[in-house]
Amino acid sequence: MLEVLRRSFALPEWLTANMDPFETLIITIISQNTTDRNTKRAFENLSGKFHITPEALANAEVEEIERCLKPAGLYRNKAKVIKEVSRIVLEKYNGSLNSILEKPFEESRRMLMELPGVGPKTADVILLFSGGKPTIPVDTHVKRVSKRLGLAPENGGYEDVRKALQSLFNAGDYLDTHILLISLGRKYCRARNPHCGECPLRILCPSRSC
Ligand code: SF4
Repeated sequence: MLEVLRRSFALPEWLTANMDPFETLIITIISQNTTDRNTKRAFENLSGKFHITPEALANAEVEEIERCLKPAGLYRNKAKVIKEVSRIVLEKYNGSLNSILEKPFEESRRMLMELPGVGPKTADVILLFSGGKPTIPVDTHVKRVSKRLGLAPENGGYEDVRKALQSLFNAGDYLDTHILLISLGRKYCRARNPHCGECPLRILCPSRSC
């Protein structure tokens, strides 16, 4: 499957496991319950107005953060969370998430999930994209596509899907797997009316409709 997906979709040039962890955290909070386009607009507003650092965002007026985040929806709550998480990173972790990412995987994940606005998906995104740690974040596309492809249990929750995928792919391929399953979900395996006829994985898929 991975070979077929790699032939079918170009991996983004920016794709590395070295993204700044605090920036990844802020982008991922903004992206909750909204589209990539709205996330990009809101993040551009925010980074145009402030340095994306714990110090700058902890000291920013919450109303100013709200104004930047309007395109992303739930902006009042997201602004409050961003200001609070920035304060905690600044005061408790000396302004850097690196000390968390240096811990063993499970401890690192647990510490991230203690931060406001950070659930399992956000923690896994930071661990994978900024910590180079072996995990597969499960967003709505990854979850749907994995189940249709028979890679994860039909009624499985977040952890079931993550662990099922991780047991099937090599750790070195987790980043590509995450990105490529999202690409498949966006282009072909949509929530409604999946385009099975054109899907590159149709001969391998137990859920294909044609
Ligand atoms: S064949 Fe259809 S259901 Fe299966 S992965 Fe492709 S689009 Fe999704």
